[in-house]
Amino acid sequence: MRIGRAAGVTDTGRRRLRNEDAFICEPPLFAVADGMGGARAGEVAARLAAGVLEEAGVETKGEQGVTAMIIEANRRIWERALADPATAGMGTTVTAALVDTDSGAVAIGHVGDSRAYLLRAGSLEQLTTDHSLVAELVSSGVLTPEEAERHPQRSAITRALGTEPEVDVEVFTITGEPGDLYLICSDGLPTMLADSAVAAALEAADRDPAVAAEALVAAANRQGGEDNITVVLFELAEGEPPAHEPAAIVPEPVVDDPVPQERELEPEPEVSPASLSRHGAGAGGRLAALAFIVAAVVIAGLVLYWGISK
Ligand code: MG
Repeated sequence: MRIGRAAGVTDTGRRRLRNEDAFICEPPLFAVADGMGGARAGEVAARLAAGVLEEAGVETKGEQGVTAMIIEANRRIWERALADPATAGMGTTVTAALVDTDSGAVAIGHVGDSRAYLLRAGSLEQLTTDHSLVAELVSSGVLTPEEAERHPQRSAITRALGTEPEVDVEVFTITGEPGDLYLICSDGLPTMLADSAVAAALEAADRDPAVAAEALVAAANRQGGEDNITVVLFELAEGEPPAHEPAAIVPEPVVDDPVPQERELEPEPEVSPASLSRHGAGAGGRLAALAFIVAAVVIAGLVLYWGISK
């Protein structure tokens, strides 16, 4: 087994001023974190979580490894929140997948309401169960899934990283198969798009992770883009991992705090870099650029017309 193509995209969406999601797309590790908290604390929490996971790198294996790195991320966020009153109460979700290419096992660790899905043999299955108020109300029969989708408290989560000194990590293993396509996303995707629409977009993109990730973000924005949207996709393929794999993660010098304090005092950039990995301008950024070009062309035309008519 080997990890095939992979891609990650994050986007602020159409309603939020900041992007408080972060993601990792560093084979064999893939993860999404969706931060929460006042001021810029949510962004700090999500970036701390992503930073800890990235540091853990290839040393980590299996369910125990995934659990250990999520517990470490919890400790780091909790301690930061204690030390810095501006970030008190911050937290983040995390959903992480760690692939063992030798065994084909995909270990998934999960806290909160970011999700992992698997597209296998044409059907999309939600692998994680949200740690959310509405998910609990659905499982106890108080709400139907349809009512949960419209519930005003649908974004309230019952487990988070960094809000308590201890965290309860849900962890399980999927036996991977060649052709599997895994999707990890923040709630900004499923709150905007039904699972059937997600599956259709993956198939329409011919299961190409890069194309599909962009298409999913664009589709969520077309539906309103009410939250930050983050999508990480990777596929499993037949064959041996290339000799240089898994070398995607080069351990960097250990930086205790990947989010320097003074960064939070800077004036807020229009588009905040939410991801420690790759990210683009996103659909919103491209739309703004297109609008700017169209406006410039129209103004130039008017000036030219005015010049000629004189
Ligand atoms: Mg969210």
